[in-house]
Amino acid sequence: MVLATANKDKAEEITLILSSRGDVELIERPLSVGEVEETGITLEENARIKAVALVSATGMPSLADDTGLEVDALDGAPGVYSARYAGEDASYQDNVDKLVREMQPFKSERERTARFTTVACLVFPDGAEISARGQVEGLIAPSPQGRGGFGYDPVFLPVGADGRSFSEMTPAEKNAISHRGRAFRALADQLEKQGHLSS
Ligand code: IMP
Repeated sequence: MVLATANKDKAEEITLILSSRGDVELIERPLSVGEVEETGITLEENARIKAVALVSATGMPSLADDTGLEVDALDGAPGVYSARYAGEDASYQDNVDKLVREMQPFKSERERTARFTTVACLVFPDGAEISARGQVEGLIAPSPQGRGGFGYDPVFLPVGADGRSFSEMTPAEKNAISHRGRAFRALADQLEKQGHLSS
């Protein structure tokens, strides 16, 4: 399968998550295939747009994912616009800084609930498609915690992790409970059921 993401943080996680699932070979997106514009308004649409574009360009089964962080106090923002929350070319740090600022008025844990969602979509050259969704509930931390991970990891405290952020976990600990871990394991389950993977 060719991976649509050129984000090495996401690619590393996906590789680790799928590495225990039989004979999966993941190939990086060829440099000749450019970034696909995410014009959809849902995670499902964007994951599919990226996978369909890649299968047309490469002729190989293509795997794409799209992730959003939904914060209840912010009416679901940044959601599908999580990558561009602080502007078109926002860095991880810019996005985290903006989220911390926007959440300042909300002091209690009750007001800081949020969830990460990933949709993974695999499209085959014959047009067949498989998709799966994974979600994890948590709280937004008042300030960044830890140095690992990427993106919003320093400010996301998943439920059941004793107040630790994703950045304070090992990659294996994060993948075991994360949105991405759940989505890609569910996708692998479907592949296995359809006989594409030997377990
Ligand atoms: P996308 O799936 O690349 O569109 O991700 C949307 C935004 O969410 C980007 O800003 C990512 O950095 C961020 N993001 C995606 N996955 C994670 C994660 O597992 N932890 C923290 N931030 C993430």
